[in-house]
Amino acid sequence: MSRIIPLAVGRPTGAGGWDALLAREVGPGGPPVDTLGRRLHDLRISVTDRCNFRCVYCMPKDVFGRDYPFLPQDALLTFEEIARMARAFVGLGVEKIRLTGGEPLLRKHVERLVAMLAELPVDLTLTTNGALLARKARALADAGLKRVTVSLDALDDATFRAMGDTDTPVAQVLEGIEAASQAGLAPVKINVVVKRGVNEHAILDLARHFRGTGHIVRFIEYMDVGATNGWRMDDVVSASEILERIGAEFPLEPIDPNYAGEVAERWRYRDGAGEIGVIASVTQAFCRDCTRMRLSTDGKLYTCLFANDGHDLRGLVRGGADDATLARAISAVWRSRADRYSELRTAATPRERRIEMSYIGG
Ligand code: SAM
Ligand code: SF4
Ligand code: SF4
Repeated sequence: MSRIIPLAVGRPTGAGGWDALLAREVGPGGPPVDTLGRRLHDLRISVTDRCNFRCVYCMPKDVFGRDYPFLPQDALLTFEEIARMARAFVGLGVEKIRLTGGEPLLRKHVERLVAMLAELPVDLTLTTNGALLARKARALADAGLKRVTVSLDALDDATFRAMGDTDTPVAQVLEGIEAASQAGLAPVKINVVVKRGVNEHAILDLARHFRGTGHIVRFIEYMDVGATNGWRMDDVVSASEILERIGAEFPLEPIDPNYAGEVAERWRYRDGAGEIGVIASVTQAFCRDCTRMRLSTDGKLYTCLFANDGHDLRGLVRGGADDATLARAISAVWRSRADRYSELRTAATPRERRIEMSYIGG
């Protein structure tokens, strides 16, 4: 089967100029609101575009192979640059920061960055595939991390390998989850991407395994992010089907969101054995509450997971911009935002130029 691969292989082909945006932006003037009335609340920071897994839905090995041109070291934002940008975001109302990637635990001394960001008045979390978590959990917690989300798509090694294209055993990820819990990074959230015909049986396995542990399993609809995973609507198992399957064995009831704009819909077991979540990004788009900005590994700002192009914040910072200009720039990008991709998606939506999730930050 032939597959269209973007020219820039999942990275932007150009970055919007700042002059026009900054000329329109007189000053930050309080927390920015976008053209659809959404305020800026969370920031996801990708700290590396590299990963030790090759999940079929994110970094398929036939594209992200030995010769894939990952970003060179000098293209990456330094920790100091990230911390400076994060301060500007917090000044504009950001209350939640998630470190992600790629695999964030592959970024050398990432706990140093955690310590720098932990000084800010934000809810600081990190998403990881868990392979290195047993080794790193204590250092991350000591540095001030509050919680972690661990991705885990199955409990049996064969299915786990089929989803993650990795030799890492499931037991290693489970050890990571346990170490995180012991280190106080709890409750641990566990992200499960469900792909039709590949890991459907893992829905009940995972629900059963984590019931009563205090950890929160969140089932995610397989999304058409990037341009390389060969996504088809037929591969999606809807959140409602997932809830039906779990509810048939363990009755569920809905619970209120923790805050407006929360991505996961929350449910609890009627018998009191804890809570689960579903993220229905395909079948029940939640763009109208989307308050997320993304900062890519090389410092480009993206206002949507499905964007084609970003705004080069690193260029601005390395060009000597002062803090006020930095804040104006971020504010201007947010104020001009009109994204609602998931609400408009159809099976025929073109994907050729779309940025990869490993680069933009999942
Ligand atoms: N490597 C880390 C991990 O896997 O947790 C962090 C980065 S990963 C891109 C962040 C999240 O995106 C993971 O939970 C992953 O399962 C999810 N993800 C990646 N590709 C996806 C897709 N096509 N559909 C739905 N979720 C996806
Ligand atoms: Fe790596 Fe995470 Fe993407 Fe899997 S989902 S390939 S672990 S970045
Ligand atoms: Fe937000 Fe874009 Fe996802 Fe809609 S499609 S929820 S705007 S990231």
